[in-house]
Amino acid sequence: MSEFDGILIPQGGNRPLMSYPPEFKAARVFVDRVMVELDVPDRERAEVMADWIVNFAERFGAYQAGPMFDMDGNGPQCSWCGQIWPLCGHHHMTGRNLEEDDDDGE
Ligand SMILES: [Zn+2]
Repeated sequence: MSEFDGILIPQGGNRPLMSYPPEFKAARVFVDRVMVELDVPDRERAEVMADWIVNFAERFGAYQAGPMFDMDGNGPQCSWCGQIWPLCGHHHMTGRNLEEDDDDGE
């Protein structure tokens, strides 16, 4: 169990493969945490802040994302979420220039 477990409300439903990933909604446990850690007594305000924080963190992680293979050669997987690249949709959010990622010297 980590401090990140259960902080997000899973965004259910089917969305088209490779579509832009959905926005997250912070779970109650994370809203509680914002109220305590950031000293926000107003729950409605804390919910807005918690939603903003989880989506900012998602964008930060996805900005670093790229396709990768594990040590057994499985992939390409998304380096941020672990799903099959680019079906997860994080290729829409990456800041990496994937054209220059190959190591063939060209
Ligand atoms: Zn992904």
